[in-house]
Amino acid sequence: MKEYKITLLKGDGIGPEIVDEAVKALNKVAAKHRFQVRYDEAYLGGIAIDKTGVPLPEETVTKCKASDAVLLGAVGGPKWEDQPGDNRPEAGLLGIRGALGLFANLRPAVIFEPLRQASPLKAEIIGEAMDIMVVRELTGGIYFGERGRMEKNGVPGAYDTEMYTVPEVERIARVAFDLAMKRGKKLCSVDKANVLEASRLWRETVLKVAKEYPQVELTHMYVDNCAMQLVRNPKQFDVIVTSNIFGDILSDEASMISGSIGMLASASLGQGKMGLYEPIHGSAPDIAGQGIANPLATILSVAMMLRYSLDQDQAADDIENAVNEVLKVARTPDIYTEGTRRVSCIEMGDLVCAQL
Ligand code: NAD
Repeated sequence: MKEYKITLLKGDGIGPEIVDEAVKALNKVAAKHRFQVRYDEAYLGGIAIDKTGVPLPEETVTKCKASDAVLLGAVGGPKWEDQPGDNRPEAGLLGIRGALGLFANLRPAVIFEPLRQASPLKAEIIGEAMDIMVVRELTGGIYFGERGRMEKNGVPGAYDTEMYTVPEVERIARVAFDLAMKRGKKLCSVDKANVLEASRLWRETVLKVAKEYPQVELTHMYVDNCAMQLVRNPKQFDVIVTSNIFGDILSDEASMISGSIGMLASASLGQGKMGLYEPIHGSAPDIAGQGIANPLATILSVAMMLRYSLDQDQAADDIENAVNEVLKVARTPDIYTEGTRRVSCIEMGDLVCAQL
């Protein structure tokens, strides 16, 4: 029987509550699809500061590197707000992504049919369904370029620089083309090639990589137009690939179309199959310990893990279908609407498992 090793980084706030429910769902599909999962736990974020003094202990990196995939809850909270910048819980998050060489961030923006009314967009704009995958470059571009303070004409100023190398663009483009091949075979590369030199290199390189993927329909769009098109006609998109800064902004915009932060999963991938999977929301300290957190974003992160790191596509489909069915009858308070049953975090996990 196939066996996978998963490291759990439960983190802070609602992290432990939501990860426990996701593990329940993973165990259920593992039994159904006849594979085994071995878990290890490690500290990240505030809990790691409390236990070891630093947000990312060396032992956590070692355990994650030795696993097939990592499942993360969330980190941070008011307790650690006075920590110096490089010792805050969020520094642990950036640190683990760097240590694992994760350069591609996958953010699906999906609307589940029963939650259509939660979207801020009109029903006729969304249509039957919406399913966009935003692929953001995570380790290059202006967030990591040369920066500094300077003087111009005797007045103080500052600068940041956008920089990409050809191999950096090639590898993220391949991730996006591979995803497009698994999905609707449509890829939109987003840049600002009418103004930025780094964007012109981006576009040239994506065009070169496209020759390896003749079945994928490739289009290019300027980032300002893409920001408009996402709310005007989101159905036109299948996979979007873009730079670090543009992806940061566009993935948040695309997420909001789904209307519910407790529903959105994400994956960070590097070279090879190993990946880190986490909900896009934070540690929600305002509701931590109350048993009312929505575990579905974390459960859906497990579905992404099954699909992209463990090659268990059928199990991933099962989880997504189960979530869709459960949403018809039960909701946690954050997504509650009349006519459905209001359930706790644990009850939601149990319902998904029962559906599986
Ligand atoms: P947040 O996402 O934690 O919470 C925003 C709002 O959404 C809150 O009202 C919260 O109760 C609600 N919410 C979030 N997830 C929910 C869920 N699963 N179920 C029900 N309601 C949910 O954002 P924030 O309040 O800005 O940040 C809180 C802490 O989380 C901060 O310390 C921040 O730095 C950290 N943070 C961590 C991550 C991460 O670990 N990846 C991401 C964002 C923020």
